[in-house]
Amino acid sequence: MRKIIVAGNWKMNHNLAEATKFVQDVLPEIKKIKANNVEMFIAPSFLFIEKLKELATSSQLKIGSQDVSSQEKGAYTGEVSAEMLTSIKCDFAIIGHSERRSYHHESNELIRTKLNILFAHKLRPIVCIGETLEQREAGITKDVILTQLKGCFADIDLNSHLDVVIAYEPVWAIGTGKTATPEMAEEVHALIRNWLAETYNTKTAEAIHILYGGSVSPKNIAELLAQKNIDGGLIGGAALKADSYLEMIKIAGEL
Ligand code: PEP
Repeated sequence: MRKIIVAGNWKMNHNLAEATKFVQDVLPEIKKIKANNVEMFIAPSFLFIEKLKELATSSQLKIGSQDVSSQEKGAYTGEVSAEMLTSIKCDFAIIGHSERRSYHHESNELIRTKLNILFAHKLRPIVCIGETLEQREAGITKDVILTQLKGCFADIDLNSHLDVVIAYEPVWAIGTGKTATPEMAEEVHALIRNWLAETYNTKTAEAIHILYGGSVSPKNIAELLAQKNIDGGLIGGAALKADSYLEMIKIAGEL
């Protein structure tokens, strides 16, 4: 049985004091909420992972990164390696976010290299995929998703990596307040699950989490999570405030 994942992606928001306060506010509350069916993730700036990890020790809250370098080590100014992340006990890493794909021109091939680095360092990956508005309007969403899946997972045996998380994030819904309807999201999630079953097997397809991302909030999370193939959310704006994050955990905990 897949647990629900409520994952906050803070992007380039929250300084040290704000990040610390969020975690200090959230920790006592999550103890009170009955949410054994929920995995709680937060991805702050690289700078604060270590501090937040220390604060969240022995709680349900997992702290991860928003990216990782595709290189092991060496002369890559500004990059953060998987080994550095494991050395501070980082729990997971997001890769292939649409903002990385568009502002930093990251390709599916590069994302696959990052994925292999994460596997090598036993860091749990959240791999983001999703179509742009132009692609959706051109009616090529399915082709785009399948190309991204094949590109990111080519030659990778997911049968031995069942903790991989896939996040479907339609680019036009990220930070825009426009959410895909639950039915639109479910259609793509079912496509991803079927691709996993056909490419690997049913057991693998049933084990892997598929999150939806794109203007998820306390207002719409319940109807999204009610869909058969939506296993949680990757959430930006609505995961920046402790009360809104907690509300989504509460809603997920009641399902
Ligand atoms: C995201 O950061 O991946 C995201 C989906 O952002 P938002 O929830 O703000 O749309």
